[in-house]
Amino acid sequence: MSLNFRSFIKYVEERNPNEPEFLQAVAEVTEDLIPYINERHPSWNGLKILERMVEPERVVSFRVTWLNDKNEVQINRGYRVQMNSAIGPYKGGLRFSPTVNLSILKFLAFEQVFKNSLTGIPLGGGKGGSDFDPKGKSDMEIMRFCQSFMTELYRHIGAETDVPAGDIGVGEREVGYMFGQYKRIQNNFTGVLTGKGKNWGGSYIRPEATGYGLLYFVQCIFENNDTEMAGKTIAISGAGNVAYYAAEKAIHLGAKVITLSNSTGTLHDPDGFTLEKLSYVTGLGRELAKYPKQYKAAVFYPEKKPWQFKCDIALPCATQNELNEEDAKSLVKHGCTCVAEGANMPSTAGAIKVFHKARIHFAPGKAANAGGVAVSGLEMSQNSIGQQWQPEKVDSRLKSIMENIHKTCLKYGKEDDGYINYLKGANIGGFIKVASAMKAQGL
Ligand code: GLU
Repeated sequence: MSLNFRSFIKYVEERNPNEPEFLQAVAEVTEDLIPYINERHPSWNGLKILERMVEPERVVSFRVTWLNDKNEVQINRGYRVQMNSAIGPYKGGLRFSPTVNLSILKFLAFEQVFKNSLTGIPLGGGKGGSDFDPKGKSDMEIMRFCQSFMTELYRHIGAETDVPAGDIGVGEREVGYMFGQYKRIQNNFTGVLTGKGKNWGGSYIRPEATGYGLLYFVQCIFENNDTEMAGKTIAISGAGNVAYYAAEKAIHLGAKVITLSNSTGTLHDPDGFTLEKLSYVTGLGRELAKYPKQYKAAVFYPEKKPWQFKCDIALPCATQNELNEEDAKSLVKHGCTCVAEGANMPSTAGAIKVFHKARIHFAPGKAANAGGVAVSGLEMSQNSIGQQWQPEKVDSRLKSIMENIHKTCLKYGKEDDGYINYLKGANIGGFIKVASAMKAQGL
């Protein structure tokens, strides 16, 4: 029995109308998987493994009511998408952003299944969040929202059931408020959330993990081509946690980071950011435009993206679909040879086609940004044995996990002409373990 890509996508579209991001993520994965299954595991088609994988095991949607500082009642919508638990408890972040909807969370949860499998740690995939906008909210409003959110979510999660963490709009502060509420309700101190503070169950290197892991992965790509990272020019988008630690590690490795950005525009420093400049950027909050007052060579470009500058490496670390076909062409034209995704699905389908056609290295988020969830997995292990490992130990484990993911991509992603199709490698490498587990566990 053989599956056809176009009819499969049509089937998914009919069952999930108006979910363009979810459909995009499913197409990006199944374009590689369907030919592979047809050739190597046709019996999996009879078991409807793919049809089952695009159907979340459970979706919870709930009301979150909270009081703002003016004592007015506010209503938001909360979600948890429990996508796949074949190889471990559901695991994935919570996103707080007005753009959150079911399509976005299903795409993120779907990606998470493959990403978590690639880490080699037994973790299933899930994602959740709310359409709550943290921008402009006071600390007390954030706390009240997080408490209300957890007052409903707690009944659906657990250290061995589903372990949320942060994502866009959710960092250590929010995890803290949610963890406190979980503990108050359950009277139980467990590893139910990751990304906790270091003094209360968190892991060293968790804040740095996604950005550091991204650079360890890029390092593998360059080493595999007998090239060095030192001296390379890097364009980074975003100015949040992932972008910051990616820039920090890049600087440590001797590369030159020339851009950072947020939704207001792009900051270009042709001299390259130093560690001192990076901490200055952090102090500016969202006001990147103020940076050139201090560092005169830099220019802030309102509403521009960082993909117009000459660079060797591009690291999109902001959000989904931030890099389109036109941006991809501009990067290729300006000599970029490697694009690695720190965000989830930042490149559109058209952009990926451009990279593949130009035969430049393209590392998808599910492989390149897996360092965050990998260290979350290490946090769960530390919690369950009641220990805290030293930063060096966590960092070296993170590095070897990223090296193993790179090896998996080489194994499954090599094309006939020798080009490494990292997307294909990550899709197939992440899929096999989950599919075999689903088969073993029956219907
Ligand atoms: N939100 C992160 C991701 O996209 C981390 C998830 C986690 O640590 O559970 O992978």
